[in-house]
Parts: sequence; structure tokens; C-alpha cells
Amino acid sequence: MLTMDQRFERLEEKIKTYLPASDTKRLRDAYECATKQHEGQLRKDGSPFISHPLAVADLVADLGLDIESVMAALLHDCVEDTDISHEELKHLFGPTVADLVDGVTKLTRVQYTSKEEEQVENLRKMLMAMAKDIRVILIKICDRVHNIRTMEYQSERKQREKSLETLEIYAPIAHRLGMQRMKWEMEDLSLKYLDPIAYQEISEELAKQAQQKEAFMLATQHAIQGRLEEEGIRGTVYGRIKHIYSIYRKMYIQNKTLSEIFDLYAFRVIVDDMPSCYNVLGVIHDMYKPVLGRFKDYIGTPKPNLYQSLHTTVIGSSGMPFEVQIRTWEMHHTAEYGVAAHWKYKQGLPTGQEGGDDAFSWVRQLLESQQDTDAEEYVRTLKVDLFADEVFVFTPRGDVINLPAGATPIDFAYHIHSAVGNGMVAAKVNGRIVNFDYRLNSGEIVEVVTSKTARGPSRDWMKLAKSNEARTKIRQWFKRERREENIAHGRAMFESEIKHQGISIALISSEEVLPHVLKKLRFGALEEMYAAIGYGGASAQKCANRVKEELVHLNRIQTEKVAEKAMDLPPTHVQVEAGVAQAGNRKKSTSGVIVEDMTDCMVKFAKCCTPVPGDDIVGFITRGYGVSVHRQDCPNAIASRAKPQEKDRWITVSWDDASQNTYKTALELTGKDRDGLTLDVAMVLSTAKMRLISLAANSLPDGYAKISVVLEVKGSADVISVMNKLNQISGVYQVSRMSG
Ligand code: MN
Repeated sequence: MLTMDQRFERLEEKIKTYLPASDTKRLRDAYECATKQHEGQLRKDGSPFISHPLAVADLVADLGLDIESVMAALLHDCVEDTDISHEELKHLFGPTVADLVDGVTKLTRVQYTSKEEEQVENLRKMLMAMAKDIRVILIKICDRVHNIRTMEYQSERKQREKSLETLEIYAPIAHRLGMQRMKWEMEDLSLKYLDPIAYQEISEELAKQAQQKEAFMLATQHAIQGRLEEEGIRGTVYGRIKHIYSIYRKMYIQNKTLSEIFDLYAFRVIVDDMPSCYNVLGVIHDMYKPVLGRFKDYIGTPKPNLYQSLHTTVIGSSGMPFEVQIRTWEMHHTAEYGVAAHWKYKQGLPTGQEGGDDAFSWVRQLLESQQDTDAEEYVRTLKVDLFADEVFVFTPRGDVINLPAGATPIDFAYHIHSAVGNGMVAAKVNGRIVNFDYRLNSGEIVEVVTSKTARGPSRDWMKLAKSNEARTKIRQWFKRERREENIAHGRAMFESEIKHQGISIALISSEEVLPHVLKKLRFGALEEMYAAIGYGGASAQKCANRVKEELVHLNRIQTEKVAEKAMDLPPTHVQVEAGVAQAGNRKKSTSGVIVEDMTDCMVKFAKCCTPVPGDDIVGFITRGYGVSVHRQDCPNAIASRAKPQEKDRWITVSWDDASQNTYKTALELTGKDRDGLTLDVAMVLSTAKMRLISLAANSLPDGYAKISVVLEVKGSADVISVMNKLNQISGVYQVSRMSG
């Protein structure tokens, strides 16, 4: 057994082999500091605690990482387990080492409980994002490899927890970083604790077969080696058995027995240069029959994690299939160590380039020469993962929430649910109340305090929210909660616009026109349009223009009718005093209608809509026949008012309240035709003491009848009352005033 100091000396020597010029004084200082800090602490197996950081540092050195990483590995448990602070470490060993230790400490603090696949992926990303410097992840992986190697003395529960976390979090991260060797080791050891029976079964079976197949393995290895020498290719051949976890997955996921697994045995040929790889492939295919569809060229098309090799499966002389992997030493190194291999190539570069983004310049260089899209994608995702545009935080329940970098508690709350966002009154991060503009950091636990009496989001929240999701949900709230306000605001905007266009709102809201207008506007009701305008979802001007277009369209259909019918009734002479007629200062008129701004004009009532006092009316200046008075809701009037060439001729008129005149109006009844229907109508009108001017009944072909009546009334109240009475006649289903 080596002493701790002896183990440190061996580490020192190892580092000198790849970092000959390094300052091992600093390394020794770090070792001594860690020894002092962990003094008296023991691991579960009874060994001094410092044996763990030493072993982790050794793994870090195996990856060929820089001296700061090795120092950080020695110190990685100090902040967590002893009382040395980040400041002290910075003072003693510089900011790089202190930050690396800090990074590893933070990752260690992230609590893992088994989660759904999506949550697991977020957790992996969270660790990568938290690491900021890729060396933190590499040190953490080494830490985990050593922990899982020495898990024997932990409780069974701890073993399972750590194994699951390793299998679901750390092994995939190692895979993503191309670190196959550590990935396999972590997977196999995790499996040993998670499914000890299967692990035992597979390893025993493999050992049994290895014994049986030993002769075959050796013979094949020699055969290939000999043939390469004959061909003058310098290469090394290794025989290997696949690792246990990959066999386990095939057995349990693809439901196969061990004997059904194709390529338990594999050989690896490592050569000096890339052309030799293809030469070796030719040799292998010449020696053995290749299995169709099993050849893969990962040299031409590297895997996303930078892996390069040629793979082929062939049938051996005894009929047993085996896989051959062919690669260069450089490819081999990348396959084993992945991104970490970078440091091997970085040596001799000027200092001050370590860490962070530089980790990728090598990767990028390697890839640029290959022009490979998969690999480019890899660099992109790796970059995103590490130098995140993302932040990952926990809910109090331990779920991982992924938000854009710079996200605030507002983003978090709305991500959970709109109701949580709208009801938020306070937010806590790691148990402490924070302001709503607090910028969340990866790994923090965020809690939202809601209240049923919350007043909802404020307009400022839109600015504080970083995610589109939150902004959209806040906007929706304003849209919904402020409906009344929006309607009022929108109505004012629309009415001002429509007035500007010379159209009266009463025209639009008349029952004849409204359905057409709404259809054209694609709104179910005017209120909806007002709300949309008020909220900013629709433009008042555009809506007004569409209304106008629709009125013009209606007008085109009815223009001629207006021209014909508007002039039918004989004009009445009206005397209006000179000057502007003001409300309350109106002159009496014989027609019963006051025409504003006009003196001495004739007034007649349009036959198309037969207005009576009480109806809203408008006046049209005819050419030579005075003012024709229409009901405001008369379709002819509406259509004409929408026409640019006619709209200026429409003027305001009003009823003279003092007038005792009677007026003719026309009604139309529709109903089931029967004997005596016309008589009943005449009877109703007679009892109502209405003066009947004319009555015309027409039988319609399908058993219905239409009856038109013209009567004399004092005003609209009379009309409504008589219409109600007519409606009660048996068989009558519609009574309406004539219009258009
Ligand atoms: Mn550790």
C-alpha cells in the first residue's frame, strides 16, 4: 500500500510527463492544503479522506488536463466538507482554481431524484449550464467515477440513488463529450448496483465464453496482425469483449438472449494514419466474409460526439461473427477521452488561453477541416449547453424548469401556469424573498407566493419578463381582464373614425345593415370589434374602411331603388327661418320636420321607409324636389350615405315635437293564407282607430299570403302598438315596417 504522500508523488510525476514545464510547487501547495483541510476525516471504507481527492486528481491527470484542473480536483471537496471559503482559495491558488472548485461544489449541491425523461434531459443541461467552464464537468465526472468505484461501503439506498444518477445524468454527459472510457465504466458499475443479478449473469457468462473463446480470440488477433505485417501496414490489433451495460441494454431492450447478440467479440486495429484505416478494411474484408449492412464509415461521417472509426462485422473461420473497429491513434484518443483530448493538443500554446470557450477552438478546428454538418451541430449544441442562453431552476418540488437566460420570477411563474403568474404577489429564491426583476441563476430553487386577491400583472411585468411565453400570457390577461375598458376605448376610437368618414353609427347598428357589416368585419358583434380595437388587436381605421366598403357594396345593389322611391311622395312646403337652427331654438314647420342649416325648403317623406315621428331620421337634398326624409335605418339611405358622390347631400333633420300632423306609413304582414285573414286585419285596424289608406293582399304560391297596408299615424308609438295587435292575428308570423 502506498502512503498518501507516495501517491501524490506519483501524481506529480505523471503530470511532469505531459506538462514538463509546469509549476509543481503550486500543485504540492494544493495537496497540502487539502490534506490539512480533510485531516481526521475518513471515507466509509476507513481510508483517509484525502485518498478520494488524490484519486480524482489522478483521473483528471489521465485525461491530460491542465495543472489548475488537477489542483481543483485535489481541493474539490474542501468548500463543501471543510470550512475553507471561496475567497481563501482564491487568495491561495488564484481565481481559476477557486472558480473550478466553486463550480464542482455547485454541481455537487444539485439534488437528484429520479425523474421523467424530459426532466432528466433538463437536469443534464442544467449541470452543463451551471458548469460554465467545461473543466468543471470533466472534474465532476472524474469525481463521480471514483465515487462509484468505491461505493461498496455505502448504504444500499445510497448505492441505488448514486447509481441511478450516474446512469441517467453523468454517463450521458460523458457520452456527449465523447469520453467513452469513463462512460462505460460508469455504466457498468451503476448496473452492478441497480441490477446485480443481471450484472452477475452477464459477467459470468462472458467470463465463461471468454475462456472457451480464448483460443479463437488469440488466433484471430494473430491472423490479422500477421496479415498486416505481410501487407506492410504498421498497426496494433487488440481483442476485446463488449462492455456489460451495452450487452444488458441489448438483452433487455431488444429482448434478446446473450447468444443472440451478434457482436460480443470485437477487435480493434489502431494504425498511424487515415489512409491505412481503409487499407486495413480491405485486408479484413479479404480475410473474412463481411456481414451485409454492417459496415459504417464514421471517419467520413464522424458521430456527433466526434467519434471516428471504421466499423465492420465479419464472419470468422468458425462461423462466428465479430466486429472490427479500425482507427488512427489520434481518433482512438478522441474516442476514449472526447473533449478532454483537447488538452493534449493544447500544450505548447501560449498561456492565458485556458478554459471556457477555448475548449472549443480545437474542436471547431478539427471540424472545420471536415465540413461535417453533424459535427457542426454538435459544436453548436455543446456551446449552447455550456454557455447557455438558458437558465435551469428548480420548483420547490424538485422539477427542473428551463427558461431563457436573464429570466425573472415572472417568467418562472408564467411557465408554471398563467394562474400562478396572474396570482403572484411575491417570489422566493432559495427561501428568500426577491424582487420581481431578480435574474434567476441555474440551480436555484424558485417559489412563487400567490394570492386569490392578487390584482394581476402590472404593465411593467411585460418589460421584466424575458420569455415570450410570459409576455404572451400577460398580454392575454390584459386582453381579458380589461374587456370593459377596451370596449369603451375601442368604441370611442371607432366612432370618431366612422364620423370622420361621414357615416353615422346609427346606420351601422341598424338591423338591416349590421349583419352585413359584421360579416364583412368578421366579428360576431360590434362589442367584439370595439374590444379588439381597444386592446390593439384591430385598427379603428381599417374597421371603418371595411364598413364603408360594405356600405358602398350594399349601395350598388340598391342605388336605383333609392333614386326611384325617394321621390315618390309629393313634396310638402316647409318654412325654416334663416340662420343656424339650434336645438331648442327650432321653428315650427308644417311638415313636422325641422331641417337644420336650411331655410325655406320642401320636405317630403320617403316612400321606401315611411318615417313617422319617433323614428330616427335623416334628410337627403334632392335635385329640385327639396329634402327627402328617410329613416336612419333605411337601407337606401345607408347605401346612399356610403357613396362618396352622395354622402355630402345627406343632412341632419329632426321631428318638430310640437307638430300635430299625422303621417302615412306602410306595414307588411306575412302569414299562412286562410279565408278571412284580410278581414281580420281590417278589423284590428278599425278597432285601433287607425285611418286605413290602402290594403292589398296577395296569395303566395306555397300557401302563404302577404298583406300590405298603408295607414295614418301620429308617431312611432302608434306604429308599434298596431304592429303588436296585428301580430296577434292567427296565422300571421311577421309584421314589419316597409323599408327599401
Ligand atoms: Mn468528491
